[in-house]
Amino acid sequence: MRVPFLSLQPQQELIREELEKGFKKVLDGSQYILGKEVEAFEQAYAEYSGTRHCIAVANGMDALTISLSVLGIGSGDEVIVPALTCAPTWMAVARTGATIVAGDVDEKTFNVTVDTVAPLASRKTKAIVLVNLYGRPADLERIVDFASSKNFFVVEDNAQGHGAAISGKKTGSVGHINATSFYPTKNLGALGDGGAITTNDDELGQKARSFRNYGSTARFQHEVIGINSRLDELQAAFLRLKLRHLDIWNEERRTLAHKIQRELIGVGDLFFPEDASSVYSVYHLLVATTQKRDSLRSFLQQQEIETDIHYPLPPHLQKAFARMGYASGSFPVTEKICHQILSLPLWPGMGEEHTNYLVDQVKRFFKK
Ligand SMILES: *Cc1c(COP(=O)(O)O)cnc(C)c1O
Repeated sequence: MRVPFLSLQPQQELIREELEKGFKKVLDGSQYILGKEVEAFEQAYAEYSGTRHCIAVANGMDALTISLSVLGIGSGDEVIVPALTCAPTWMAVARTGATIVAGDVDEKTFNVTVDTVAPLASRKTKAIVLVNLYGRPADLERIVDFASSKNFFVVEDNAQGHGAAISGKKTGSVGHINATSFYPTKNLGALGDGGAITTNDDELGQKARSFRNYGSTARFQHEVIGINSRLDELQAAFLRLKLRHLDIWNEERRTLAHKIQRELIGVGDLFFPEDASSVYSVYHLLVATTQKRDSLRSFLQQQEIETDIHYPLPPHLQKAFARMGYASGSFPVTEKICHQILSLPLWPGMGEEHTNYLVDQVKRFFKK
């Protein structure tokens, strides 16, 4: 049986007619940039996130770059980032001209902690970017407290965390300003590129709104040198329709992930990162580590089960960041995770035949 890593088809089929109606509405409306659909989506996503403001932008990396920019971050400033994340988190910091200061992650949670972050704080630290990686909330509250005591900002990279929560608060609402992506494979995905900034701070919200549109909020009046990073009407229409289903799809991801985990905990040396009881994870990815990652992966491939690796090479070992001079071994926990981690297939609409087959084949591999 073929098990794809991800299928967007069940979601699409469920709401195909709504999407087609959304398309027709935008087509007939003849306003394709910063119109009613973007405004309505911004309102809906702000409400969903529990924030005062949502500013829709072109993609996740822009959302991060703009968030850092409106905090006044640039050359001469330091920004702390986790070593374990995808390249755009680091690239956004680099784009502002600020210095990247990376921290290794914790072996159990796969995220930075106050302990790994504290030694990195300096007088130059302006912000920390916390990534809700794999849909699992970072240690947001403790790090916000720590950041406040040191007087720097917290920015959440919530590209993988739509709908996740910690102590009843949605991720993307805890940091001072927060960025997310609506890349098609994310939990809330557009049918193309998209992103958003969420914040409770009126001034930061206003600045971000201006920055994404050439530094302008009134026609032909430019307050700052901004960029063009606008979500288009069509994507806004699709996202607003899909947002109505997000909670159900997240619940489905959780049910499937919990079921697979229950079956596989204790099998071989498989380890699944654990969640604190205060945390609501949305399983953007279902990840496990094992020393036999590569052979497990090729065994599953032979059984037609697709898996993936997030991420095979951490940012500090990428050619793009070679100038920073990090050697192999700089972040041992991150590097170990990258050698051992495997993302298992998971998507809303995944059938029992798929999960059962996946579980059986993983068990078979470890029995050999
Ligand atoms: C997807 C992703 C991004 C980048 O988003 P784009 O919309 O592709 O620019 C940034 N950070 C994380 C953690 C992501 O998963």
